[in-house]
Amino acid sequence: MAQVDSKIESMYQEVLKRNPGETEFHQAVLEVLECLGPVVAKHPEYLERKIIERICEPERQIIFRVPWQDDKGTVHINRGFRVEFNSSLGPYKGGLRFHPSVYLGIIKFLGFEQIFKNSLTGLPIGGGKGGSDFDPKGKSDDEVMRFCQSFMTELYRHLGEHTDVPAGDIGVGGREIGYMFGQYKRITNRYEPGVLTGKGLTWGGSLVRTEATGYGATFFVNEMLKARKDSFDGKICTVSGSGNVAIYTIEKIHQLGGKCVACSDSNGVIYDEKGLDLDLIKQLKEVERRRIEDYVKTHKHAKYIAKGNIWEIPCQVAMPSATQNEINGKDAATLVKNGCIAVGEGANMPTTPEGVKVFLEAKIAYGPGKAANAGGVATSALEMQQNAGRDSWTFEYTEKKLEDIMINIHSNCFETAAEYGAPGNYVLGANICGFIKVANAMVAHGLI
Ligand code: NDP
Repeated sequence: MAQVDSKIESMYQEVLKRNPGETEFHQAVLEVLECLGPVVAKHPEYLERKIIERICEPERQIIFRVPWQDDKGTVHINRGFRVEFNSSLGPYKGGLRFHPSVYLGIIKFLGFEQIFKNSLTGLPIGGGKGGSDFDPKGKSDDEVMRFCQSFMTELYRHLGEHTDVPAGDIGVGGREIGYMFGQYKRITNRYEPGVLTGKGLTWGGSLVRTEATGYGATFFVNEMLKARKDSFDGKICTVSGSGNVAIYTIEKIHQLGGKCVACSDSNGVIYDEKGLDLDLIKQLKEVERRRIEDYVKTHKHAKYIAKGNIWEIPCQVAMPSATQNEINGKDAATLVKNGCIAVGEGANMPTTPEGVKVFLEAKIAYGPGKAANAGGVATSALEMQQNAGRDSWTFEYTEKKLEDIMINIHSNCFETAAEYGAPGNYVLGANICGFIKVANAMVAHGLI
């Protein structure tokens, strides 16, 4: 990737100084700023209006105490976050992550990425993100409910369909959204479906929202393959993770004719040469909330590799769908050496800067998360549209809208990369295309 332009370097140094220790946030900012040299050369007004400095500073950051009691009556204290990053294009929109690794730097990297991702969708949504260092793993339903109720008891006052609309992310699925929606309704005495997305289908949710991030990422990779006169047909694929994004990525890969042979969780990797049995994975993960290791109890021919590295399994298409920085430079080189021709990021920032460099230099089709996984938030925006119109659309209609949005994101990134002299570089295309729309809105809104 390019060096940071000399006009922008001091802004990056300021970000490092003002946000000490937030390494993931620094990484996300650097990836965008590295692409903006040619943009500010064309648009000096962005420098005059200090758009980059303003975009790197969240509009509002909320940090709060979340006390709750476990089933034995023991008191626990977690920390809650909501970073309302940028509302130039619409109300803050972005998920909530519950994972023990969460701290301000993680939420800020995710919120920052969300600004440009949401811009790329073409829908009227600003960028935000939130969560907690609470670990839902191993907790009873009642414990999760008590935590969610306590979390929402503070968060509710910051939300609203025209203000801030959270959704799920790691550790936050339909169950958690349900408990938070219930508490919101109880505190405010208002049935406001527009305040959260990822809701259940009988109480304001949208068909396809569950599938959206995985399906969308696969549609994006399909477009990258089409641009190279290729397709998923017969391709061997690997997908990290076994959560929401991974499951529906595997499903769409299979529907498009690919064969997914491996997935994972934080303990290990499943390798099934015959192609993964997705019904079993759904049963284990969505219904029984078990570990992926149990896959081999049913399929004895498959292999479980404890603490294994999924990127060592040869594949033509890799779709990281677990977490940030899961592909380092060495993993990227292994993928390329083993014949990988396309990488589509379902997860946010799953590839380290060294890994990104390897993919770009090898000129494989590399779709960065802020473009490739935008289908989730795009479908959340479709859920908001249905809520506002008190409507509910069919699966086919909603999926077609999602596919059209992904095709559009792909072509915008593709064309922007070519326009700025880097054909095929979706990192540059996504960052510039996402940035310009937000920057123009910020200029129009004046100094706020
Ligand atoms: P889930 O909680 O449903 O699943 C996460 C999966 O990733 C699990 O298999 C989990 O394994 C694994 N994982 C999580 N953290 C780690 C870690 N530190 N090391 C190894 N494996 C890990 O989350 P989602 O599927 O919703 O999210 C996955 C990724 O997709 C995240 O990066 C998220 O930000 C991104 N994303 C999600 C969207 C959505 O709509 N849900 C939208 C856009 C992006 P284990 O159970 O062992 O922890």
